[in-house]
Amino acid sequence: RTCKLSGHVDECCNCTYQDVDRLNAVVHPLLRQLVRTAFFRYFKVNIYCDCPLWPDDSMCSMRACSVCECEQSEVPQPWRQQEEEGWCDTYQCVAEREGQVNSTVDPDTAVRLINLKGWRGFNNPWMAEPEGSDDYQYVNLLINPERYTGYAGEHAHRIWNAIYSQSCFQQQQQPPSPSSPSSSALAPPPSLEQLCPEKRVFYRLISGMHASISAHISANYLLDEERGLWGHNLTDFRARLGTPALRHRVENLYFAYLFVLRAVMKAAPLLARYEYDTGMPEEDAAAAALTRQLVELPELRSSCPMPFDEGRLWKGSDGLALREELRAAFVNITRIMDCVGCEKCKLWGKLQTLGVATALKVLFSSSDCSGALPTSPALSTLVLERNEVIALVNLLERFSASIEYYRQLSAELQAQEGAE
Ligand code: FAD
Repeated sequence: RTCKLSGHVDECCNCTYQDVDRLNAVVHPLLRQLVRTAFFRYFKVNIYCDCPLWPDDSMCSMRACSVCECEQSEVPQPWRQQEEEGWCDTYQCVAEREGQVNSTVDPDTAVRLINLKGWRGFNNPWMAEPEGSDDYQYVNLLINPERYTGYAGEHAHRIWNAIYSQSCFQQQQQPPSPSSPSSSALAPPPSLEQLCPEKRVFYRLISGMHASISAHISANYLLDEERGLWGHNLTDFRARLGTPALRHRVENLYFAYLFVLRAVMKAAPLLARYEYDTGMPEEDAAAAALTRQLVELPELRSSCPMPFDEGRLWKGSDGLALREELRAAFVNITRIMDCVGCEKCKLWGKLQTLGVATALKVLFSSSDCSGALPTSPALSTLVLERNEVIALVNLLERFSASIEYYRQLSAELQAQEGAE
């Protein structure tokens, strides 16, 4: 039997599961339109990078695992031009190129303000910095949908195991190292009560992302390879998310949705005035209008005005050390994504971890990395790189779609079980 979710999604906030369902019924159609616009459908990613953790890394050779890259001509022209101009490695270079930078502004602030256009790297303390490789591809997300690929077994479990074995979730274990033996047995999940609030938040974010990936697999399953038939697989859904024993996974999905939604609401001023420029005026106007519509939705204020309260974290005397521990763990997780052995899964894994890193940056990091403990960075100085904006919005759409899938597949499963 499936389970009905009730009560509050998180102890801190007044949002119930029913509130989220009501809200998502309005948010999801908007997001679905938004991620189809040119700005949000092209994602820059290095899917062919090497795995830094295991020497015997191999890639899935099934057709469903492969990613179709964009032709050069399909990449938005202003983005191509930016690539051709090359990247700046120094503040002076960026300043010269941009011209408009006021020389009286201190260099750090100036770089933050202009890094959107010419700065290389994520400038995101929650992401592993790219290691000097310029080998990136542009991918059209719409023709590479997140769905069943067949990537499973020991290889996939090794990735999930490495993620859940991060020291912040499993105190006794070390982060994975090249010498650690591979194992398909997953470390037992931590008891959430034993984790401090900050670690609980991180665990729920990762587990929620995992649940979202599972929902996409069950809802977009290859039912008949010969006929190329895709659809809902209720048996798969029952095994991944559909029974009361797995309820915590779904609860974590709702939690992760609210966390990312909070980040999007907080970044609303920046998103509303963002320069959506792909050289396709109609598409860009649609992206700008839909984004404004999304962040100004009256339901956001009425249904769930405070989806997550980031101000309650990092309060203890060990707040700074804890933040650093969790930051290092999350950076490790972004590196583990380089080891995912299926291109399509790696693409979406990288997009979603960048999305989570962006939400963390919006909620927790001042744009500098001074080690201060800001809980509300001044949004006037927060700068999000184009790929961060794309990842953040697509991540919210993934979680939002997963909540819809969960509702649909639960109802179908219930109907099926009632008929049996
Ligand atoms: P898995 O999903 O592999 O889970 C392994 C174990 O983790 C479970 O046995 C359980 O103990 C625990 N677990 C499961 N869910 C949760 C949760 N929500 N919270 C906490 N613990 C949990 N496959 C595709 O077909 N398409 C994709 O797009 C895709 N993307 C992927 C992206 C990444 C980053 C990774 C690592 C894998 C991806 N996979 C994808 C593989 C997919 O996630 C599963 O690993 C695979 O389908 C095998 O599923 P499983 O039933 O063995 O359980």
